[in-house]
Amino acid sequence: LHSKLPEVGTTIFSIMSALAAEKKAVNLGQGFPDFECDPALTGAVSAAMAAAHNQYPPMPGVPMLRERIAAKIASIYGHSYDAASEITITAGATQGIMTILLSCVHAGDEVIVIEPAYDSYVPSIQLAGGVPVFVSMELNQHGYTIPWDKVAASIRSKTRLIMLNSPHNPTGFVLSAADVKALADIVRGTQVLIASDEVYEHMVYDGVRHESLCRHPELGERSFIISSFGKTYHVTGWKVGYVAAPAALMAEFRKVHQFNVFTVNTPMQVGIAEYMNDPAPYLNLPAFYQRKRDLFRDGLKNSRFRMLPSAGTYFQCVDYTAISDLPELEFAQWLTAEVGVAAIPVSAFYKQQKESGIVRFCFAKQDATLQKAIACLQKI
Ligand code: PMP
Ligand code: GLN
Repeated sequence: LHSKLPEVGTTIFSIMSALAAEKKAVNLGQGFPDFECDPALTGAVSAAMAAAHNQYPPMPGVPMLRERIAAKIASIYGHSYDAASEITITAGATQGIMTILLSCVHAGDEVIVIEPAYDSYVPSIQLAGGVPVFVSMELNQHGYTIPWDKVAASIRSKTRLIMLNSPHNPTGFVLSAADVKALADIVRGTQVLIASDEVYEHMVYDGVRHESLCRHPELGERSFIISSFGKTYHVTGWKVGYVAAPAALMAEFRKVHQFNVFTVNTPMQVGIAEYMNDPAPYLNLPAFYQRKRDLFRDGLKNSRFRMLPSAGTYFQCVDYTAISDLPELEFAQWLTAEVGVAAIPVSAFYKQQKESGIVRFCFAKQDATLQKAIACLQKI
């Protein structure tokens, strides 16, 4: 068969989780919680099933869920999306991203990707017929930054869309108000659209606020905002998320969505809508994860790993060059097999393979899991 994605193999997340299981290592690789979600959430889904919410919902999703999402966005970010025409429930953020690209990108259009980038972006762009154009984040002693001058220099007549992600996987970088202003200045007067992957929107630490692009009136007009309940409610296996965008963009999105999945499972949507009535679970998330981040960072303080900042997400990147000069994938494999802790090589998030001696740990774990990992990592 003539492959449409000749360079694509098994994702690094599956590879490292399989190795962690084989070696019985603590799995801080693939990003998912090792603790259960709130029983009130599973209870709400069970109740939805028992109440016969088991047939197709409307194509864009259960109306109550879309209304609750619109209300949440209005209360936190001050932007009013119309639940009827501007919000669609997706099968996780991954489907939302794919559907955005399929609906906007024409053959030969260019899409700017900031690297390191989540691994689904580039194959999704390619399947849509687009051409990824890469801009690398820069790393200095304060952590990763986006070089906006290079983003500006990459915009040409063929540029259709910029793919953004904040809070950022894998680096933990969070867009600042100054970044948002720089972006707005760059795209003003162009037709360039933005896909803003904000799946970690409720995981921003140290009192900093999440700069959703919908907060910014000009950017909101040209942006698709993507989020995922998998992250927010500790249920990565449920694969329920959403995309919000102005009506004209959403109309195009839905043309693809209705033939891609048509709609997303009903009882999860009804249960999530019910649970979302209480804002406490997502409002408490920064404190919940900041404590875990700090526990993990404190544990590694006296190790030979050099910690990079983690301003958001549930990831902590570390520089291991004081320990080893192995390439990142080999180091992550060695760490899993010999030290007993799985990590993800940051090089897996680059298309133009780049070795920087950095791996990513996920701290969305029970304290006991983190303590166990710390004990192993302190020894090397
Ligand atoms: N974007 C980013 C940046 C992610 O980290 C993830 C989760 N790994 C996704 C998208 C996909 O989210 P979902 O599981 O809801 O499809
Ligand atoms: N988003 C998760 C991560 O970055 C993994 C998702 C997946 O396994 N595809 O670790």
